[in-house]
Amino acid sequence: MSRRAASWHVATVVETRPETSTARRITLEAPTWPGNDAGSHVDVRLTAADGYQASRSYSLASSGESTRLTLAVDEVPDGEVSPFLVRELREGDRIEVHGPLGAYFVWTPSGDPAPVHLIAGGSGVVPLYAMAAAHAESDDPAPFRLLYSVRSPDDMFFRAEMEALAESDDRFDLQVVYTRRAPAGTTTPPGRLTAERLRTAVPPATASPRLFVCGPTPFVEAVAGWLVEEGHAPGRVRTERFGGS
Ligand SMILES: Cc1cc2nc3c(=O)[nH]c(=O)nc-3n(C[C@H](O)[C@H](O)[C@H](O)COP(=O)(O)OP(=O)(O)OC[C@H]3O[C@@H](n4cnc5c(N)ncnc54)[C@H](O)[C@@H]3O)c2cc1C
Repeated sequence: MSRRAASWHVATVVETRPETSTARRITLEAPTWPGNDAGSHVDVRLTAADGYQASRSYSLASSGESTRLTLAVDEVPDGEVSPFLVRELREGDRIEVHGPLGAYFVWTPSGDPAPVHLIAGGSGVVPLYAMAAAHAESDDPAPFRLLYSVRSPDDMFFRAEMEALAESDDRFDLQVVYTRRAPAGTTTPPGRLTAERLRTAVPPATASPRLFVCGPTPFVEAVAGWLVEEGHAPGRVRTERFGGS
């Protein structure tokens, strides 16, 4: 794992575009950015004209040495920061970012052949997509699988990119659990991820998979609990909680 010291950087918005009906993909250029491992995050700090400041954490969908950073922000209704980032932020605007943060919740190529299983709820897919993309660019032998719980096909973040990865890379497998509306032809009816569905998707504890779980706090706590009940060593289950109740 590479260690890069976290510090504040001024970043300019170079592009924003819709990610889903409630989320926006934001591309930043931060000339002093030192690079980051896949899975890390930044603290975004906004400063109002009267000096009032607010900051929130956002995962990076990008990784590597580039000074281009990609965020994907879902709007939390009545939230303080996310509605501004989704609705108001414009190309050319400048924001401050502190990072890279989160050395624990990162994946870097290691040559370890144990399977890596990523489990995401909603916008929690952002750091896991970064890991899948970094894995695809590497020659790391570990098989990767992403289990993604999402309301409907239209709510998938990085849908085109992940479907293309699954198509082109036989080391990557994508499974989607639709909680509200499944695409036509899907045999499994929509519904929440259950312990049983998780058990059939995740390699058994005897295969010693490395597990990364990210999403809303209640989702992460339920999934991590089920994994430990299934016999996975807590040290193999890494979690990132996005908040909410
Ligand atoms: C390490 C880390 C990485 C994160 N990465 C991302 C990311 O890549 N994309 C992204 O969209 N968000 C991400 N988040 C969540 C983000 O930091 C904010 O919590 C979120 O955008 C809401 O901020 P807000 O100011 O709009 O809402 P707030 O004003 O903070 O909260 C308003 C209300 O919404 C609830 N709430 C807060 N956060 C959430 C949430 N995540 N889900 C549901 N309800 C919530 C609060 O309890 C409160 O009741 C991440 C959080 C962490 C800790």
